[in-house]
Amino acid sequence: MTTTPIEEFELIIVGAGIVGCAAAKAFGTDGRRVLLLERDLTEPDRIVGELLQPGGINSLKSLGLEDCVEGIDGIPCYGYGVIHKGQTVEIPYPVNYETEKQASGKSFHHGRFIQNLRKAATCTENVTVRELTVNTLIREDDGDKVIGVSAQSKTNEYFKFYAPLTIVCDGLFSKFRKEFTTKTPDVRSNFVGFVLKDLELPLPNHGHVILANPSPVLMYQISTHDTRVLVDVPGKLPSVSTGELRAYMENIVAPELPESIRPKFMEALETEKLRSMPNGFLPPSANQSTGMIVVGDAMNMRHPLTGGGMTVAFNDVVLLREFLSPQNVPSFTDSELVIKQMNSFHWKRKNYCTAINVLAMALYRLFAANHDADLEVLQRGCFSYFQLGGDCVDGPVGLLSGLIQRPIVLVYHFFAVAFHAIYIEAKSNGWSGAHHSFIMLFTVLYTACVTILPYLWTETKY
Ligand SMILES: Cc1cc2nc3c(=O)[nH]c(=O)nc-3n(C[C@H](O)[C@H](O)[C@H](O)COP(=O)(O)OP(=O)(O)OC[C@H]3O[C@@H](n4cnc5c(N)ncnc54)[C@H](O)[C@@H]3O)c2cc1C
Repeated sequence: MTTTPIEEFELIIVGAGIVGCAAAKAFGTDGRRVLLLERDLTEPDRIVGELLQPGGINSLKSLGLEDCVEGIDGIPCYGYGVIHKGQTVEIPYPVNYETEKQASGKSFHHGRFIQNLRKAATCTENVTVRELTVNTLIREDDGDKVIGVSAQSKTNEYFKFYAPLTIVCDGLFSKFRKEFTTKTPDVRSNFVGFVLKDLELPLPNHGHVILANPSPVLMYQISTHDTRVLVDVPGKLPSVSTGELRAYMENIVAPELPESIRPKFMEALETEKLRSMPNGFLPPSANQSTGMIVVGDAMNMRHPLTGGGMTVAFNDVVLLREFLSPQNVPSFTDSELVIKQMNSFHWKRKNYCTAINVLAMALYRLFAANHDADLEVLQRGCFSYFQLGGDCVDGPVGLLSGLIQRPIVLVYHFFAVAFHAIYIEAKSNGWSGAHHSFIMLFTVLYTACVTILPYLWTETKY
């Protein structure tokens, strides 16, 4: 085994994905000497990170990366369409009252976006990008402090790099997460993804959520000819090799889809490869390690139903840039100051991540009601609440898109949905006796509480 000479940087970043590229650009621009390490610099072909919410677009702008969503045949997105038993409700992104412009997001092929981000990072002064897999974090002999990384090339050359600070953002399947937290992702379902060719969605330029049984289906156009479909499959994934997964798509999922979509769905099942990704929930942890911080999916994840991961990630980089700026932390060798700043970062980021994380998890529970009678009452109530329009959609979509950063708005709307659900249910049952209504009020409120409170609770923890 040959090890090449030691090189030193001010900051090492592990992983040139969503967070890594944005962080390299931000810290390189601030004058830090950055080394960005990525195990594979070829264009990724993944079913993740394909719809960027307006709040994420705003963060990209403030990082000077807004051009990265251009030139990749991306599709502007102006809101959502939610489809339930043949009815569609439109949930437009809010209008900015100062500019009178409607907010918009963008959907695209993930790999094309990542390559643009990598190009932007590579072109940033002070940033060195290398195609290497990081194998270990190097720690100081007499303690826990991380002082660098060892890495390996595709041709089995070995390298060691040293820096006073390492940012680990190696994603969902993080190798280094366990060196930082004992929390592990809670995976209850998988998304199965493939592409539908030349499909016209009921509401063009909108993300679509189909409230299917047993679990929701997502669709959004990602290029002129391609529409991404993501089918949530709860529990253990049926086998691909035995054809069980394909049969599940044909027999369970296809009958739940609107007729206008079903033929293209069936056609794609014949031609497309079915790929899957686990949908995990990982509550955030405060960074208390010396010499290392962990961000992105390695530190915090939510169900991808609401497409919030990249928005949280870019917001995190904007906040990190501020808390770790040369003015606030003149040198990353001051580990105590870095830890102090990361503590402030942990609490400040709750303004946006709590609403996005909890909304994703709570909506997923409602939308995957899977024959639970109380959850189905809440699901119907939620759909009917959206049909009211006005503030009943502006609030929830403002939170989901990362434009409203006040978690209390989420709590308000969630319980408004619960009371609305009780109201429409009692109304449709003809208010059949005060006793019945009282029991329903109790069980629906109880279900609402157990749907949202555990997630809110995990967010308040250190
Ligand atoms: C099915 C699914 C769909 C999703 N859809 C959306 C969506 O539509 N919108 C949205 O906003 N979010 C979505 N997300 C979430 C989003 O993809 C993530 O939040 C985001 O990609 C996290 O960025 P990251 O930088 O932490 O990780 P990644 O973007 O995954 O980047 C990690 C990088 O680290 C590299 N790496 C890993 N290990 C090493 C190593 N040892 N050495 C060197 N490099 C390494 C990897 O190759 C990769 O490039 C989805 C997630 C899933 C699971």
